[in-house]
Amino acid sequence: MLHKLTAVLLSLVLLLTGCAAAGKSPAQKQYQASFLTLFDTVTYISGLADSEEAFQAQAQEIHDRLLVYHQLFDIYHDYEGLNNLKTVNDQAGIAPVKVDGEIIRLLKDCRTYYDLTDHAVNVAMGSVLALWHDARTDGMDDPVNAALPDENALKEAALHTSWDNVVIDEENATVYLSDPKLRLDVGAVAKGWSVQRVAKTAPSGLLLSVGGNVCATGPKDADGTPWIVGITDPDGGDPYLHTLYVTNQAVVTSGDYQRYYVVDGKVYHHIIDPGTLYPAARWRSVTIVCRDSGLADILSTALFVLSREEGQALLEKTEAEAMWMDGQGNCYYSPGFRELIRT
Ligand code: ADP
Ligand code: MG
Repeated sequence: MLHKLTAVLLSLVLLLTGCAAAGKSPAQKQYQASFLTLFDTVTYISGLADSEEAFQAQAQEIHDRLLVYHQLFDIYHDYEGLNNLKTVNDQAGIAPVKVDGEIIRLLKDCRTYYDLTDHAVNVAMGSVLALWHDARTDGMDDPVNAALPDENALKEAALHTSWDNVVIDEENATVYLSDPKLRLDVGAVAKGWSVQRVAKTAPSGLLLSVGGNVCATGPKDADGTPWIVGITDPDGGDPYLHTLYVTNQAVVTSGDYQRYYVVDGKVYHHIIDPGTLYPAARWRSVTIVCRDSGLADILSTALFVLSREEGQALLEKTEAEAMWMDGQGNCYYSPGFRELIRT
């Protein structure tokens, strides 16, 4: 987490130094706000405004809208008077749960993404992901006794990951998990998807970054100056692997350096290949650039699991671009990615 925080802070420095004077009215300045209250990560919001006060009010409004999504999609905490995904999980095999329309909307998208990604991203895999989550948090608390999840438990959990048992009733606005052992975990999509929903109606000229899920709602200023976004080096190197020009797009990276723990000297990260039930081993990091931040988030996780050929086929279906980095530090690019590179 700290590593990621550092990386994002560096991004901000870059964004500040990349701040153009042209295109803003004389009174306007570039401002930043940051929050630690959303999606268990750091959120940054940047943009031009006439005053610090005006900017902070705008940033607070965006924060408050994101907070609604944070609570709806949270699988670890209850909120008074709110049915969220934890409520849905807790009621698995018991009863349908009345939910906000945004939960229905997200889950329908996840179902579409499940098919689109050839099952590489399955948010109904929560029971498998929970075993890894628990082993990781225990292992981080007590590194000497860090252990892998039990293999038989993983195999048993994998029997309870079918979308046939996620019953979405749009008319009654309910979700029912008809398999008592199935759990939802939308960690692979929630941040990007929520940012997209908020960005859609946010003012143009903002850069939102929620845990490195970056989304520009338009160019930086009236002259159309693009934002500059850095891609973190998984080895913590500086400068970035690349910096990109971004105007009306999302940039999302999935990496093995973001959340992980160590067992017997080996690193186990948080993106699980549904085929093996173990951390996906092909890539160190995958960065996606496309118009929709929700799609970018899904694709970054999907391409992290898939082969380059499978990933490229997915990019062509979705009009997205990608950069992959492998274990030897080699970088590969989809054909259109190079046009986005600044350095
Ligand atoms: P991050 O959220 O750290 O930016 P990702 O977007 O790649 O990274 O999402 C990783 C999260 O998604 C994991 O913490 C886990 O909750 C969930 N996840 C991991 N592997 C999968 C998978 N194959 N399908 C669906 N969800 C996954
Ligand atoms: Mg993702």
